Amino acid sequence: SVSVTLQHVTKRFKNTRGKADIIAVNDADFVIEAGELVTLLGPSGCGKTTTLRMIAGFELPTEGKIFIGSEDVTMLPPNKRDTATMFQSYGLFPHMSVFDNVAYGLKLRGLPVEEISRRVNETLVLVGLKDYGDRAPSKLSGGQQQRVALARSLIVTPSVLLLDEPLSNLDALLREQMRIEIRKIQKSLGITAIYVTHDRVEAMSLSDRVVVMKDGYVRQIGAPDEIYEAPDSRFVAGFVGKAEFFPVKVVSKDGGLWTCSLGNKTVQVAQAAPDVNVGDDAVVMARPESLRFEEKGKGYIDGVVRLNVYLGNSMESFVETSFGEVLVQLDDPRSKKVYREGEEVSIAFTPDRVRLLSKN
Ligand code: ADP
Ligand code: MG
Repeated sequence: SVSVTLQHVTKRFKNTRGKADIIAVNDADFVIEAGELVTLLGPSGCGKTTTLRMIAGFELPTEGKIFIGSEDVTMLPPNKRDTATMFQSYGLFPHMSVFDNVAYGLKLRGLPVEEISRRVNETLVLVGLKDYGDRAPSKLSGGQQQRVALARSLIVTPSVLLLDEPLSNLDALLREQMRIEIRKIQKSLGITAIYVTHDRVEAMSLSDRVVVMKDGYVRQIGAPDEIYEAPDSRFVAGFVGKAEFFPVKVVSKDGGLWTCSLGNKTVQVAQAAPDVNVGDDAVVMARPESLRFEEKGKGYIDGVVRLNVYLGNSMESFVETSFGEVLVQLDDPRSKKVYREGEEVSIAFTPDRVRLLSKN
């Protein structure tokens, strides 16, 4: 397998109605290592598909360069690149059998019939459709059609597999099964894969690394646990998981510990985004499971429990505070003191479980 490199890649679309151009992708600059599965994650319209289409060769960058391995592919057409793309719509040929759909790419290349037959059968086994070669696509479930589309992408043994929201037409349970299957297949083949999604759970559970995008910009790149535990902005913190933000004034920094004022309390925070400075108005970002309860007056933020939601292995408490509603998640609630709805309580956290972020 090979790496994929984007060097200062920008894509501008001319607006035909005399308005300003759309900058779909703005100075994307990162490397996807050989054998990695990297997701492009972000809200609709942030430039994920455009980035993928430039890697595939369906769009040319306005500026910048794209490399597959050490080869500069920036100006090459799609069929001259060692990539295969799987789209959201399966695009199967309805009048062809599953076997012929999967064989299509190899037939185009004029391979011998026996080799085609062997490789189609191997690939159908790989995607769990061993006995389905004779079926028509219309006689398959959505999930099975998705597997055929995957087989069709994989059979040409591309060095890089590109997937654009491939599971968004499937129901929730099937989506979960298929994403685990795609991950297993990708790992077993050791193929480099780039996966576009707006679904944070999908991105977090599937990826070696996640590229978080917004408005055409790459906002942060990291392993799933890095972007969850150590987001560098409010946007990334909120997009990859549930997050609470408490407004603070940063008072001082001593060793690795930041001291801040939060309302009339003093709190300490062990990590901060690179753009936070002493003297700033900032926010303390906390994941709901990083918060805990103390008796009224003993923590940092006093409030009243408004709703408890029991979830088996955890409990979510919605607490009304002077900073608005705060979600506290208690893991293993049986081992902890639970505060009832209507009870007064105080919310606290430890310095190493929260992070300082700039206000905007
Ligand atoms: P995503 O896949 O993250 O939803 P896209 O890459 O499809 O985002 O789109 C990014 C931006 O570029 C959007 O504002 C979209 O409207 C615009 N865009 C995409 N393709 C074209 C095109 N062919 N012509 C003009 N604008 C486009
Ligand atoms: Mg898209």
